[in-house]
Amino acid sequence: MSKLLIVGTVAFDAIETPFGKTDKILGGAGTYIGLSASQFNVDSAVVSVVGDDFPQKYLDLLTGNNINIDGIEIVEGGKTFFWSGRYHNDLNTRDTLDTQLNVLADFNPVVPSAYKDADIVMLGNLHPLVQLSVLEQIESPKLVVLDTMNFWMDNTWDDLLKVIAKVDVITINDEEARQLSGEHSLVKAARKINQLGPDYVVIKKGEHGALLFHEEEIFFAPALPLEEVFDPTGAGDTFAGGFAGYLAKTEDISFENMKNAIIYGSNLASFCVEKFGTERMQELSPADVQERLEEFKKLTQFEIEIS
Ligand code: AMP
Repeated sequence: MSKLLIVGTVAFDAIETPFGKTDKILGGAGTYIGLSASQFNVDSAVVSVVGDDFPQKYLDLLTGNNINIDGIEIVEGGKTFFWSGRYHNDLNTRDTLDTQLNVLADFNPVVPSAYKDADIVMLGNLHPLVQLSVLEQIESPKLVVLDTMNFWMDNTWDDLLKVIAKVDVITINDEEARQLSGEHSLVKAARKINQLGPDYVVIKKGEHGALLFHEEEIFFAPALPLEEVFDPTGAGDTFAGGFAGYLAKTEDISFENMKNAIIYGSNLASFCVEKFGTERMQELSPADVQERLEEFKKLTQFEIEIS
């Protein structure tokens, strides 16, 4: 089984949706990616930083899911990264109310020696120079996947381009793809992003599924239509964690297998949005996952005769 190294925020989030509001709860891209990838029982580790205000029970939650946390630095007297967001009524769009980098501002990531030989590297949403530093510490990764967001495009554009040039797969949402490429058409956007470095471009479209672009080919996976969407926070990271976790488990990084990885990622993301924060991911059973995968299959399968 491949080794998976994840870097991303481990954070406090405060979320407002049309259905309710939370105080500071567990969040962060690294957290969601780790929990999602742990569904595949892969050998994974998260590299991140928190302050000493971060509860031990949250760290225990990660280790309880077999995620190695030797690479999570705890800064004494430091404050953990904090993000707060408010969703609009359609739940497809949100406003960031606050981003406090806190300990993330001077973070020098250290990859644990046992994970320097990681096969798959998942560079979760975080400062691009931190992503770059992690990548430089890995000996010879077979696949590097990068996730990022508008915050880093707005604030650290040049550094972001440096890291994008070094990755194999990028996963971003539709608006970010447009911002990164300057193109409105997602097909044209993907082509332009290809030229920046990544051979594979995954564009997430929230409740409208995800697109995978590679050379002249395009694959599309819908999102499962859900009766209840409660809180979309972390859906993108959960998708990315499922994608990377599945590839790590199957040890097959072909385009054909990436199509399956997209389905697994979408499937896991569909759970994430059903409750606030990481709540639903914490209680997810293999049977739940299996059952929904069957629904996914039914949703997307059709036979048609093309004459
Ligand atoms: P998603 O909904 O998949 O975009 O991810 C939401 C998660 O990303 C939240 O748990 C936040 O803690 C985290 N997050 C928000 N803003 C940033 C940022 N600028 N850098 C890194 N992580 C962030």
